[in-house]
Amino acid sequence: MTNEVEMKNGNSPVGVGEMTSADYYKDHYAHFAIHEEMLKDDVRTRAYMNSIIRNKHLFRNKVVLDIGCGTGMMSLFAASAGAKKVIGIDMSAIVERAKDIVKENDLDDVITIIKGKVEEVELPDGIEKVDVIISEWMGYCLFYETMLPTVIYARDRWLVEGGIIMPDSASLYFSAVEDRNYKEQKVNFWDNVYGFDMSVMKEIVVKEPLIDSCDPKQLVSKRALVKTVDLYTVKLEDLTFETEFSLKAMRNDYIHGLIAYFTVEFTKCKQKIKISTAPHEEYTHWKQTIFYLKDVITVCKGEDMKINVKMTPNLENKKDLLIKLKVDFDGKRGSLNEENTYVLK
Ligand code: SAH
Repeated sequence: MTNEVEMKNGNSPVGVGEMTSADYYKDHYAHFAIHEEMLKDDVRTRAYMNSIIRNKHLFRNKVVLDIGCGTGMMSLFAASAGAKKVIGIDMSAIVERAKDIVKENDLDDVITIIKGKVEEVELPDGIEKVDVIISEWMGYCLFYETMLPTVIYARDRWLVEGGIIMPDSASLYFSAVEDRNYKEQKVNFWDNVYGFDMSVMKEIVVKEPLIDSCDPKQLVSKRALVKTVDLYTVKLEDLTFETEFSLKAMRNDYIHGLIAYFTVEFTKCKQKIKISTAPHEEYTHWKQTIFYLKDVITVCKGEDMKINVKMTPNLENKKDLLIKLKVDFDGKRGSLNEENTYVLK
């Protein structure tokens, strides 16, 4: 999300039509496929659409800022909901298409698309304040490649006192899972590869969390709320945090890993609208994030595992999200003390 568009010929940006694979590497949001995936994530896009279209009272005659507008989807919703002015900003070359899309839909009198980094642009027509900020900033495990610092920046610079942010609340949850089959395939696979011992690979494999869907039947513990972000008040320094929580086993089983997932809410809507990426909810492209443990825990129903989590997003490159998990468990049929540092790259 942070990669800047490659500039050819001095300052003129490369047009989407003439981009090479190297250009796409630097500006992966310029490629249509990533937008197709996001737009086809019906849980995601519909939640934004309903929050906007079904809440016209929040948009009528308002000035709306769409942060990281991509193809302009949210800007189009906002204009349809009666906004007076919509400004969509994106630093990717995809904005060229967004401009065409806005024109094709006869909304260029309401929507202005600006190309640039939110942190470096000025709003058009001398606009200094906006009434509503919309952004789809969530990454894997909520905080990976996060655009949240960009939303915070825009909020502090442009949001009018009493203005609205959509969505305005985000929560991160952890749970424990039984996942023997998949752990066998992904981790223990390296124990014997065509007769050779490649188990040294396991160390690096375990360190990288997996983005995948978990069957809700694999959930062994109740969920624990680990972090809530209030978009109106969150500060940059809140994004690095350490906290302790416990996970209570719901049945006798084995635990091979922990999973993280998140929810975001649009609390200012008439009817609260929520996106949930939990395993028992409808599929989203965020899936869940799985952290395998080196060892297996044998738990009995009702027992608690104590977990300490430290999350450190890399605010420089916005990639590499560091997650340190310390698991302390002392049960009737087993015990485990493990500390692992995972990196989501
Ligand atoms: N709002 C669109 C796209 C969301 S993807 C939709 O929901 O379909 C996030 C977009 O934010 C990407 O297109 C990316 O290029 C853009 N982006 C990320 N950080 C940005 C920044 N600092 N300034 C401008 N655009 C940014």
